[in-house]
Amino acid sequence: MSSPATPGITAGRLPAGELAQNFDDLHAPYAPHEAAVAADRCYFCYDAPCVTACPTSIDIPLFIRQISTGTPEAAAMTIFDQNILGGMCARVCPTEELCEEVCVREVAEGKPVEIGRLQRHATDILMTRDAHPFTRAADTGKTVAVVGAGPAGLACAHRLAMLGHTVTLFDAKPKAGGLNEFGIAAYKATDDFAAREVNWLMGIGGITLKTGQALGTDLQIDKLSTEYNAVFIGVGLGGVNALGIDGDDRDGVRDAVAFIADLRQSGDLSVLPVGRNVVVIGGGKTAVDAAVQSKLLGAQNVTIAYRRSRDRMGASRYEQDLAASKGVQLLFNVQPVAIHGNGAAVEIELEYTAAEGTALKGTGETFRLAADQVYRAIGQTLTTDGGLALDGRKIAVTDTGRTNVDGVWAGGDCASGGNDLTVTAVAEGRDAAIDIHASLMEGK
Ligand SMILES: Cc1cc2nc3c(=O)[nH]c(=O)nc-3n(C[C@H](O)[C@H](O)[C@H](O)COP(=O)(O)OP(=O)(O)OC[C@H]3O[C@@H](n4cnc5c(N)ncnc54)[C@H](O)[C@@H]3O)c2cc1C
Ligand code: SF4
Repeated sequence: MSSPATPGITAGRLPAGELAQNFDDLHAPYAPHEAAVAADRCYFCYDAPCVTACPTSIDIPLFIRQISTGTPEAAAMTIFDQNILGGMCARVCPTEELCEEVCVREVAEGKPVEIGRLQRHATDILMTRDAHPFTRAADTGKTVAVVGAGPAGLACAHRLAMLGHTVTLFDAKPKAGGLNEFGIAAYKATDDFAAREVNWLMGIGGITLKTGQALGTDLQIDKLSTEYNAVFIGVGLGGVNALGIDGDDRDGVRDAVAFIADLRQSGDLSVLPVGRNVVVIGGGKTAVDAAVQSKLLGAQNVTIAYRRSRDRMGASRYEQDLAASKGVQLLFNVQPVAIHGNGAAVEIELEYTAAEGTALKGTGETFRLAADQVYRAIGQTLTTDGGLALDGRKIAVTDTGRTNVDGVWAGGDCASGGNDLTVTAVAEGRDAAIDIHASLMEGK
């Protein structure tokens, strides 16, 4: 058996029991009495700031009141009415930057009502019931193609199906779920939750899932537009920015999202290889997730190297602290200049940086760190625009997701605006569905 100190890249650095413990639920679900106590802390504010801060505008005081009064199923319906992926959002939302940040109890006492955990409590209860809780409206006879079965596509497809339309949901991958299935950290979505949520959501009926169908090769927007009454594009950001430095192609240098996808799909974490010395380049959620999970797999030394200062990191302070608490070292104001080694990576050379106004400059002072694995986590890019007009590096859309082509909508990470969060993708998919419905039913 290997250990954290075994040189190179190897599997089985930790015993199976420790691995299972490391990748267990980040936040244990509430017991019923804990949920009641947590719900009782809510002031049920009028004009509640937590609702305004939620991208899906869930009526938070109402669902918390429903938990307090012993009706968690009703609470779950309040959540799902607005956000059909409320179960996943309860697990992955950065609540510390959204609803809980503005909760009046956070502002007054530095301890918010635990909205995310309460949301999980309610949604888990309803989702363990056999029947899907929503019913479809009468068939409208209209058909919609939804391309991309991530949070945006799933939310769009569900709302359209509920409104009586017939949906074909295409995805390039063999499984639906998008980054819920392939990207979110394993300890946030345990027990195959992403796949279970997709199955539960599909219980609405009226949605046919077709996997292995990629826009740009198997599917074209103009053809979809002639075959369906409307088209929604929710293909996310499938590409990854390169480091653009010497040694970027050495063995052991990989995209962080590819590593995380392997980890999420691995049936046995004890066979997943990890380096003794891992360096992650980047400052967002992806960087933190790759670093923390490398550490949890048993890497001895894990470092996040970020080119700007701590306050400029995309990852929240909570996520930074989570990484530090797991033993990840965070380095700020450093940028990679080369990855050294003979074929495989052995060391990474980093240079200190200094801000000059809004620009960033290397200072010329460098140092090296041992690195068997280097993960690129410096941002994702659009891989398919389907020929639609762009706004910057994303598909240009209006507030309701309309693109420059009549009858074609887009939403989620691939579309302009937004903040690359699961909950925002859900809101955009839902809102596009409502606009598609209005457009299809015009004059009817
Ligand atoms: C590592 C990582 C961790 C994250 N952690 C969090 C977190 O903790 N909390 C949070 O709120 N957000 C997190 N995010 C962001 C969040 O996952 C995304 O904002 C969200 O998944 C976007 O949803 P989407 O539907 O737009 O895109 P995606 O989830 O990317 O789904 C796009 C779907 O389209 C499919 N697709 C792609 N190209 C094609 C094509 N050409 N043809 C057909 N189908 C295609 C893909 O297979 C995929 O199923 C994380 C992101 C990453 C990368
Ligand atoms: S802001 Fe906090 S206390 Fe007020 S309704 Fe929202 S969760 Fe309850």
